[in-house]
Amino acid sequence: MSGCLAAEVISLRFRHRRVFPDWTLPLVALFGVLPDICSPHISLEDRHASFSHSLLFLAVLVPVCGMIAFWFEKGMRLRVAVVIWLAAMLHLAADAVSGGIPWLIPWKEEPLGDYYLEPFTWPIYDAVFIITAWLLWRWRQRLEVRAYERELMSAD
Ligand SMILES: [Zn+2]
Repeated sequence: MSGCLAAEVISLRFRHRRVFPDWTLPLVALFGVLPDICSPHISLEDRHASFSHSLLFLAVLVPVCGMIAFWFEKGMRLRVAVVIWLAAMLHLAADAVSGGIPWLIPWKEEPLGDYYLEPFTWPIYDAVFIITAWLLWRWRQRLEVRAYERELMSAD
């Protein structure tokens, strides 16, 4: 989400237009939590048995993302498909460094990763990501208004 907003801010700042169409950010948010929606869990053991935290799940998501992207206008489809898939992939990457994921399920049970980030630090990371996203969101709004004003002035 923050990555998309950062791309939007850079594009609005230098090219005066957005990178992603409307509804991309809600989809990014949805795909960012999709692995946990598909297999809700509390314990690490349950996560280590969840199909939605595997490479096969990411592979299944490729055509799903492609189909969803078809709802968007032509020039935007690939970037929408890529960022929503990346949101799910980054979820698995984050879980891999905070307890591990069953990346090769259903073929192999052995999880990939460990507690490289201790659970007591997770709220700090969450807070940093939320504040960063909020700041970028506000910044994007301001730049959008400026781009709109610029468009109005050039129409005169
Ligand atoms: Zn997860």
